[in-house]
Amino acid sequence: MNWWTIDETHDPARASWVPSAQGHHDFPIQNLPFATFTPSSGDESRIGVAIGDFILDLAAVADAGLVPTHVTGICRDPTLARLLALPPEERTALRRALSDLLSDVARQSTVEPMLHPADACTLHLPTRIGDYTDFYVGIHHAGNVGRQFRPDNPLLPNYKHVPIGYHGRASSIRPSGVPVVRPRGQRKAPDADAPVFAPSARLDYELEMGVWIGPGNTLGEPIAIADAAQHIAGFCLLNDWSARDIQGWEYQPLGPFLAKNFHTTISPWVVTPEALAPFRIAQPLRPEGDPQPLPYLQLADDQQHGSLAVTLEVHLTTPAMRDAGLPPHRLSSGPASNMYWTVQQMVTHHASNGCNLSPGDLLGTGTISAPDRDGFGSLLELSEGGRNPLALPGGETRTFLEDGDEVALSATASAPGYVSIGFGECRARITPAP
Ligand code: CA
Repeated sequence: MNWWTIDETHDPARASWVPSAQGHHDFPIQNLPFATFTPSSGDESRIGVAIGDFILDLAAVADAGLVPTHVTGICRDPTLARLLALPPEERTALRRALSDLLSDVARQSTVEPMLHPADACTLHLPTRIGDYTDFYVGIHHAGNVGRQFRPDNPLLPNYKHVPIGYHGRASSIRPSGVPVVRPRGQRKAPDADAPVFAPSARLDYELEMGVWIGPGNTLGEPIAIADAAQHIAGFCLLNDWSARDIQGWEYQPLGPFLAKNFHTTISPWVVTPEALAPFRIAQPLRPEGDPQPLPYLQLADDQQHGSLAVTLEVHLTTPAMRDAGLPPHRLSSGPASNMYWTVQQMVTHHASNGCNLSPGDLLGTGTISAPDRDGFGSLLELSEGGRNPLALPGGETRTFLEDGDEVALSATASAPGYVSIGFGECRARITPAP
């Protein structure tokens, strides 16, 4: 089995007896992402799988003896911690069993009572996140931002040799929907004599994908590029909220700190590598003249199948837009393939010095942007560092986010001959600084 293997669970003709699954934007039967949830307040948290507008309760399915015996205990867990650690073969076996249960009409009367309406459920973080690392592999973001500071030489000399990253903060990661409190911090205008401590006036979002680490490695034992995919348990959307004014003052010489760690929003559904198998595409060729990766980051299969046919979108609503009944305004749309390094290369590079990755660790890709404005992944890029305000429906303008603004990230994986799947919601609203 390879990470791009197609089986019966991807068959576009496969339908679920759950009517809302057919044609569902995010969760047709071909997706089957996992989440940690509570059906209603007062219940214990448990794990489930999305099908149309419902969540299938895996504890109930396990209690009925309907999952492979090797995952019966894991399906009764309160979080996805142990499921994320499963070897890909065992995760795939569970996927095939669930796809069978949700498509076979002979199972409907048994399984239907184990469904919860998704809109009545509360979704949580999939598991306690041990460590969070944010990369910087969106080459157009690196170029667009670098150009604001170094017009002639936007990319630093290491960029095309090293998958650049930094260690983030796991404690402040929250699932979609949890409000973001505008941070206070030190900022200093270029022409000011001294910094002030005040609410950020340049609050931004960053459009990223998140990567859930699976089995992981032992300290001191790197992960070969050929094995990297075995250590990826799933994908999500990630908004790396960023206070640009705090960032500009604090980031030298050690990099991002309080400008980034006040809050990170993720979509709560873990979209598995198996669900994404039909949407594997080749990593875009490096431009003529770019260096080849060093051998530890090179693998033909990774270059051939290592990228994803996923379209990413960002929408904004403001309080005035909501009051006027205006729909969310699309800020950008672009392909996830705008990454200079594959996710597998990120994993291998992270572990290349012996650093141990553990189940439930989370990686961010870095802001995924595009060469043109339609695909810019942050307001820093869209407003050209705040110099060129965006016009919004209803006559408002924005350079950075204001209180009450809501940012929603979404994603669709699609490929000819297959049913498209989505990632669910990654949205949050800004609330005033305390
Ligand atoms: Ca970031």
